[in-house]
Amino acid sequence: LQSAFIAKNPASQRQFETQAQYMPGANSRSVLFYAPFPLTMARGEGACLWDADEHRYNDFLAEYTAGVYGHSAPEIRDAVATAMASGINLTGHNLLEGQLAKLICERFPQVEQLRFTNSGTEANLMAINAAVHFTKRPKIVVFSGAYHGGVLTFGAKPSPITVPYDFVVLPYNDVAAAEAAFATQGPKIAAVLVEPMLGAGGCIPAHAEFLNALRRLTTQACALMMIDEVMTSRLAPHGLAAEHGITPDMTTLGKYIGGGMSFGAFGGRADIMAIFDPRTGSLAHSGTFNNNVVTMAAGLAGLTKLYPPAAAGALAERGAALRERLNARCAKAGVAMQFTGVGSVMNSHFTSNPICRPEDATGFDPKLRQLLFFHLLANGIYTAPRGLVVLSLPVTDEAIARFEAAVQSFLSTYADVLPN
Ligand code: PMP
Repeated sequence: LQSAFIAKNPASQRQFETQAQYMPGANSRSVLFYAPFPLTMARGEGACLWDADEHRYNDFLAEYTAGVYGHSAPEIRDAVATAMASGINLTGHNLLEGQLAKLICERFPQVEQLRFTNSGTEANLMAINAAVHFTKRPKIVVFSGAYHGGVLTFGAKPSPITVPYDFVVLPYNDVAAAEAAFATQGPKIAAVLVEPMLGAGGCIPAHAEFLNALRRLTTQACALMMIDEVMTSRLAPHGLAAEHGITPDMTTLGKYIGGGMSFGAFGGRADIMAIFDPRTGSLAHSGTFNNNVVTMAAGLAGLTKLYPPAAAGALAERGAALRERLNARCAKAGVAMQFTGVGSVMNSHFTSNPICRPEDATGFDPKLRQLLFFHLLANGIYTAPRGLVVLSLPVTDEAIARFEAAVQSFLSTYADVLPN
């Protein structure tokens, strides 16, 4: 499959080789790399993509979940065009930021107040700093396999910023390990930072007991519970914490909420957020583009016109139904393969054992994921090499049927090499 891929994609190969002269790895996002070279995408429309060699793909990756709206939705384009026509670097408070802040606080009720950033990474960094500053404690509990941004990763490759912080890394979905950590280090713990579904870690949902235990332990220890909803807020009408009935002290947001533009936000209890009030607070937080009108306008259009809470619920239902059908196909084919996830976001794993943490999904040959990825590409389906599959709003039932057919042909074509 790889030699067919190379033969089929000369323009992407040329792009990769040229760009590699000026950027290590030819790009600025490590996640996008795969061998022999990643496709260069030239344009998108709805839920379709065209690469530099003019091949058309059904987009089942949707900018690693940020692309809820698909490509060039007219509502977003209009909002951006209107904003552009009114001046974009206004050097002041503007008329749109308050509207977006209000909308977000109303949608995610645990967020009493918030501040904007340019990425989910920055949102998490600011939330961590807020927790350390607010509690005057040094330690932040995170979970093995967690991804909180480009510099805040607790997976195989070390995170560049772990050094100045005092992280305690615990196993995910493990109540006893969390209890033990709080029993020995409770008074030093500023906060727990947790994804309600490990996203990059393999779309592994948190168990309700686990989140409830973290809420109880943090409250008892006067530490903060911080939920990273950068990826998961799209998965339920009011985010995944609300779906679990959990009220965290702090929440971080990102991705689609900025309408597809660079975006992040962190917020929560007003008494914590007060530390950022320039009149009375003690922490500074600036950023030239934090309130940029293009993001604010795109975000407002997206959340109100395209992805109100009901639309989030409907997309989640389509995703959950697809995941069930895929798992039924794997079971029927007698292949040890499953798709885990919540709603419109899922990840493949080549085991039929229950998966509670990333360690449960490591006992198979990583080449199987590669095989699936290149098989899907050859069938005109764009997903992530790590097995991530994402639905966006404009994806049609026809495209979903094509995706399912491609998975089915994968199961039968490679029956003799797939685990059972
Ligand atoms: N947290 C989570 C859970 C994420 O999935 C991501 C992005 N994939 C981030 C934080 C970082 O967001 P950004 O890429 O905007 O910095």
